[in-house]
Amino acid sequence: MPIATVNPATGETLKSFGAMGPEEVERRLATAGTVFAGYRTTSFEQRARLVLRAAELLDADRDDIARTMTLEMGKPVVAARAEAAKCAKALRWYAEHAAELLADEEPDEDDVRDSGAERARIHYRPLGVVLAVMPWNFPLWQVVRFAAPALMAGNVALLKHASNVPQTALYLEDLFRRAGFPDGCFQTLLIGSDGVEKVLRDPRVAAATLTGSEPAGRSVAAICGDEIKKTVLELGGSDPYVVLASADVERAARTAVTARTQNNGQSCIAAKRFIVQDGVYDAFAEQFTAGMRELRVGDPLDDDTDIGPLASEQGRTDLEELVEDAVRKGATALCGGSRPEGLDGGWFYRPTVLAGITADMRIHHEETFGPVATLYRVRDLDEAISVANDTPFGLSSNVWTRDGGEVDRCVRDLQAGGVFFNGMTASHPALPFGGVKRSGYGRELSGHGIREFCNVTTVWHG
Ligand code: NAP
Repeated sequence: MPIATVNPATGETLKSFGAMGPEEVERRLATAGTVFAGYRTTSFEQRARLVLRAAELLDADRDDIARTMTLEMGKPVVAARAEAAKCAKALRWYAEHAAELLADEEPDEDDVRDSGAERARIHYRPLGVVLAVMPWNFPLWQVVRFAAPALMAGNVALLKHASNVPQTALYLEDLFRRAGFPDGCFQTLLIGSDGVEKVLRDPRVAAATLTGSEPAGRSVAAICGDEIKKTVLELGGSDPYVVLASADVERAARTAVTARTQNNGQSCIAAKRFIVQDGVYDAFAEQFTAGMRELRVGDPLDDDTDIGPLASEQGRTDLEELVEDAVRKGATALCGGSRPEGLDGGWFYRPTVLAGITADMRIHHEETFGPVATLYRVRDLDEAISVANDTPFGLSSNVWTRDGGEVDRCVRDLQAGGVFFNGMTASHPALPFGGVKRSGYGRELSGHGIREFCNVTTVWHG
């Protein structure tokens, strides 16, 4: 894949970059290794000052970096500005909370004595240089949600970003440099995916995190398994959105539109499969379809646009193939199901709702990365849970209900890293984020996220 900015709204190549050669990658690895030796000994206060400065700079740059993101991957510019603001918030959150999240822990006194110690404690030390392999869909947020805790924990970061967002990748390196981080604490490697293995196997790299597709995750995990290096994987999702008969159907339908189409439908935690109980199915289907039809598809740089283009031509082709396969096997498009008219230059697709989904359709098992929703009609909660879990993925889940018993059942039985009731899944710095099954393992954000790349050290005094 060429390393280049190609505007998805027009197909025009705006800027191309050559991949860094072996000498440049080696120079950056060496710098990372050297800087870690000193950076790991800095205090939380020192790190927090730098992270807070990065947040300030990001706030000041918001409009410019939002425009860059939109030009690189097509998200509506309003959403891009919100993404930049969210990143600044996460930086501030970790600057404020890291010391407390990584404070020494004192085990129970009786247990300490039982271990034969006078005293003992658990201490969190940084792991070292961490390689982050990141996707284009939230090109700032995916990186910052890793970098903020990693840098606050005393680790240093190497970023291999997706090849279609090189300007955002270079902006991030520049942001942390301007914030005053020692040279090499955060570096971008402009390399293709074929250059990742060499970096992962380098002894100066301690661990890796990958957000992206299953094949990419499998490859990084296999190499790191071979090297016995820690990994966190945030992979795909096909989140269920369950609407039960006790739900506020109007709110559920309104929220469903945003839950499915945010980021032009290219979000791992977007609700993708809408599983609706018989008694409210018709009302939900009608209101949800009406909401999807009303969305404005168009130029993502226009503040009034709801849905921009998909990020790549291949992404749109993949989506079209899933829809065509479903329709061929009997699904009905309640709206959409084709490209919009008059937007021929870019990779646009109309918001689509498909009903009548059956298990032989690819779309039943595969992730739809675009504004396409599938609708399922179910008899009761048992069937809803069974359909919700009938997927290789397990990232998050959404349930609309006003019944406490149903809440308890869903918390117990839904196979996912999150269960969001009467709302849509969204990440927040204080809440752990991650999945089970083919959605990956490990957690980002919160205390769980910052401890992923720490050496949890037992300190024992006899
Ligand atoms: P992708 O192809 O896997 O790309 C993601 C990153 O991995 C890019 O930097 C890519 O580099 C790199 N990469 C690709 N193949 C690789 C390999 N074999 N070895 C090492 N690195 C490799 O993912 P995508 O299709 O662009 O992104 C969409 C996917 O990401 C969806 O499945 C989505 O659900 C998932 N996602 C998950 C989360 C989450 O938090 N769970 C968040 C966002 C997205 P190149 O660009 O150079 O190929």
